[in-house]
Amino acid sequence: MSDPVIKGWCPGALRPMMSGDGLVVRVRPRGGRLTPEQAKGIADLSARFGNGLIDLSARANVQLRGVAEASHGPLIEGLSALGVIDETTEAESRRNITVTPYWQEDDGVQEVVRSLTEALSHPDAPATPGKFGYAVDCGAEPVLSETSADIRIERGPGGGLLVRADGAATGTEATPATAARLALRLAEWFLETGGAPEGRGRMAAHLARGATLPDAFTEIPALPRAAAAAPLPGLLPQGFLVGFEFGQMTAETVSVLAEIGPLRVTPWRMILIEGAAEAPRIPGLITDPADPMLRVTACTGAPGCPQALIATRPLAQALCPSLAPGTRLHVSGCAKGCAHPTPAPLVLVGRADGSVDLIRMGTAADTPSLTGLIPATLTANPALLTETEHAT
Ligand code: SF4
Repeated sequence: MSDPVIKGWCPGALRPMMSGDGLVVRVRPRGGRLTPEQAKGIADLSARFGNGLIDLSARANVQLRGVAEASHGPLIEGLSALGVIDETTEAESRRNITVTPYWQEDDGVQEVVRSLTEALSHPDAPATPGKFGYAVDCGAEPVLSETSADIRIERGPGGGLLVRADGAATGTEATPATAARLALRLAEWFLETGGAPEGRGRMAAHLARGATLPDAFTEIPALPRAAAAAPLPGLLPQGFLVGFEFGQMTAETVSVLAEIGPLRVTPWRMILIEGAAEAPRIPGLITDPADPMLRVTACTGAPGCPQALIATRPLAQALCPSLAPGTRLHVSGCAKGCAHPTPAPLVLVGRADGSVDLIRMGTAADTPSLTGLIPATLTANPALLTETEHAT
């Protein structure tokens, strides 16, 4: 198996990533929300300058695919006019904020997000590594405990706000007016205490290496957080939550959704259509909570990703109808496992010879139970996935 390439930085709009189908231009919606005008504008730009495909990321970003290098400049002008991108690559890299999509008008979530966004836009804001991020999860119920973040703003035991380092069991008390300042103080401490040697590093790993938090961040015990599965499509007080096959939308779909209402982008590769009272009847949407495609994950794979060793999505689509109820399948083009970094019951990973390895209850980088399976043989006989359960 070839070792995947680790970049250590996250692509943005101003610093896009080259992929097998052109540039991937990542947009971080402010406050985790696109107004109808912004969503329609992004759809139009995707159709004009990209290949008309828009991915949802695990950090609640939208990614325009298939952008030619010559089209990047005009695309950035268009995104800038929509007010969805930052002025510099530094500001874009720092503004890595995931927001609970379940916020309500008066719960203070957007107030915290606005002050954090403002604080991170200053040139002297902590120059944290590209993958370093913030989770604003202080709605009525926490929903981002499984979403990658380094600093978390959540509800504490008394119902007030708590600013907590990811990986720590304690935090410091905050208000909507002080949360951003305290979060940045924690980010400064992370950098000052050597959390990012050579410009890379994450908070939980820093703490695991023995870093001692400032006293203020050890005052209040955090509420226990049970690991939560991604929610299912359906009606919510804020609107209707819909999913997409492999978290990918067409520009046309986004355009139609924008006509219904503002779009809240979630870290579960789903969209919450604000104010929608029923499931939209639009092709390409997953609105049935029992749809087995909700239990299948596959990265871009070949030919879209230059590191991919197999075409992931056709294999995932072929195997989906045979999945046992409740079983999750992750098909990864290489051992990097971008689409699902945490363990899954069944993982298929591409190999350089075009075959796949099968890993049970693990990640794409774990030791396989079976190696060298031929995709065509698997799709012709999907029972092989479970029949060979005890083989090694
Ligand atoms: S996991 Fe998939 S998307 Fe990520 S680098 Fe490998 S092939 Fe590409």
